[in-house]
Amino acid sequence: MAQLIDGKQIAGEIRQELAKEIASFKEKSSKVPGLAVVLVGDDPASQVYVSMKGKACNEVGIYSEEHRLPANTSQEELLNLIDDLNANERIHGILVQLPLPKGLDEKEVLHRIDPKKDVDGFHPVNVGKLVIGEEDCFVACTPLGVLELVKRQGVDISGKKVVVIGRSNIVGKPVAHLFLKENATVTICHSRTQSIMEETKTADILIAAVGRPELVKGDWVKSGAIVIDVGINRVDGKLVGDVDFEEASAKASAITPVPGGVGPMTIAMLLKNTVTSFKRFNGIDE
Ligand code: NAP
Repeated sequence: MAQLIDGKQIAGEIRQELAKEIASFKEKSSKVPGLAVVLVGDDPASQVYVSMKGKACNEVGIYSEEHRLPANTSQEELLNLIDDLNANERIHGILVQLPLPKGLDEKEVLHRIDPKKDVDGFHPVNVGKLVIGEEDCFVACTPLGVLELVKRQGVDISGKKVVVIGRSNIVGKPVAHLFLKENATVTICHSRTQSIMEETKTADILIAAVGRPELVKGDWVKSGAIVIDVGINRVDGKLVGDVDFEEASAKASAITPVPGGVGPMTIAMLLKNTVTSFKRFNGIDE
């Protein structure tokens, strides 16, 4: 039976580490990292996410601002707010909660965020820097959380075979690049991949970011593999991942549950990116 990778516990440890670091910044300079979260419209799921992010900031000592704007906000008003936040010295991270209401140009808004404050890692400058291997970038929080979970398992990633299922810009592609940077041999599978099981069966580390409930069955998993399930799917009111947990855990050496695996790591990495931004703005070693 596989070992359970407890994302909730690991995220808690990271938050504690960050809280200590932030307390020491405060002591030395009386300055703390600041995060601005922008929410346009009244999507209930987005409201929950934004509240969770604000609460997580408070707990570790990050200053946070919530900017809640009505659904009929114009593109220009939203861009003006981004400009103000880009210029605001108290703010080191800017996050625009997606999706934006219809009529707003998401791409233009995300591109307007100063890449140095783009703690979500969605700006093309940051994505480009990740791909070409420049260190001073921000990487999207969920992929970063996946890497952190694997690293904290004590695995030597170099030379390992990693298979990622999914090629989205927010999970699949950045996670593949992160593991490539760690010298893994990376294969990306997607909806057009032929004989996907033949690919996944070769993986030492299998990462599923598909959005298809329990797609990955036990016979997709190599014996002893580490399985990371990014999927969050609601089935009959219950959250399930992209991996058939029971079948896969009979084969894997370690596996993340859903919920309680990758999910809690995403917010922890948002806090970490905000702290990293603060350090870069203040010339503190990372
Ligand atoms: P997405 O944008 O819908 O991308 C899904 C990817 O899976 C696409 O590349 C798609 O291939 C591929 N795919 C779909 N069906 C497939 C199949 N049958 N076989 C192989 N590949 C298939 O989704 P996403 O935003 O990356 O999210 C993926 C999952 O992670 C979702 O369940 C989402 O809720 C979850 N998620 C969790 C977190 C977290 O914090 N834990 C954060 C973000 C996302 P094509 O490119 O060919 O269409």
